[in-house]
Amino acid sequence: MSRETPAILIEGLRKVYGQGDTAVEALEEVHLQVAPGEVVGLIGPSGSGKSTLLKCLGAVIEPSGGRMVLGGQTIYDHGAGGWQIPDLRALRRDRIGFIFQAPYLIPFLDVTDNVALLPMLAGQPNRAARARALELLGALDVAHRARAQPSELSGGEQQRVSIARALANHPPVVLADEPTAPLDSERALGVVRMLHRMAAQYRSGIIVVTHDEKIIPTFRRLYHIRDGRTVEEAGEGRPV
Ligand code: ADP
Ligand code: MG
Repeated sequence: MSRETPAILIEGLRKVYGQGDTAVEALEEVHLQVAPGEVVGLIGPSGSGKSTLLKCLGAVIEPSGGRMVLGGQTIYDHGAGGWQIPDLRALRRDRIGFIFQAPYLIPFLDVTDNVALLPMLAGQPNRAARARALELLGALDVAHRARAQPSELSGGEQQRVSIARALANHPPVVLADEPTAPLDSERALGVVRMLHRMAAQYRSGIIVVTHDEKIIPTFRRLYHIRDGRTVEEAGEGRPV
């Protein structure tokens, strides 16, 4: 871990769903740090809080305690009253790339425009956004589907397009929830290679939630979450 400002820093994060008798303490005390340019794995049994952690970090749900800092900026601090930035939508749109387990693409846009949409919304000229989209689609081995509609794609192709879309704005933080589940071994490793390249090139910090035995050995550092608490582990860091 370098000493530069972390891309992602989480301290004492807590999340309780519901109240009273039915309350579920999903995260008890999570500590985690990701350097710029680093891809870390997050592993743990089903129900251990992995998705909850990504949703808190992605400002999709509100934590119940702790602190979250992105690129040196505190975005959440329970002790200081909660969210520390006024526009959570802008945070999600401009600074965080989400990759979900089930790809969701916009059905009436072709593959290229699905990927180019966010950069266009962020003000990039259409031509540049589409060129960037094609480059990402090529790197993910789906450039030949650039003009297809989402409904014409296989599940694996949809997943790779949704990964291209998450990376199109080169966000400083990328959160991936089981991104390689529907992919074969070679393509799963292709996705991981892409994430590493992306992290290195744009100094993004990337968290990959995964059960996938094909990709777990590629991480140099892993966080293991169990009973709502994280433990840092050394990974194999196998080259991809
Ligand atoms: P994982 O992604 O590791 O499988 P989750 O973060 O989805 O785990 O869930 C962690 C715990 O929080 C589980 O006990 C789950 O049942 C509970 N949980 C998740 N989402 C909700 C919710 N919206 N309301 C209540 N409990 C939830
Ligand atoms: Mg989950």
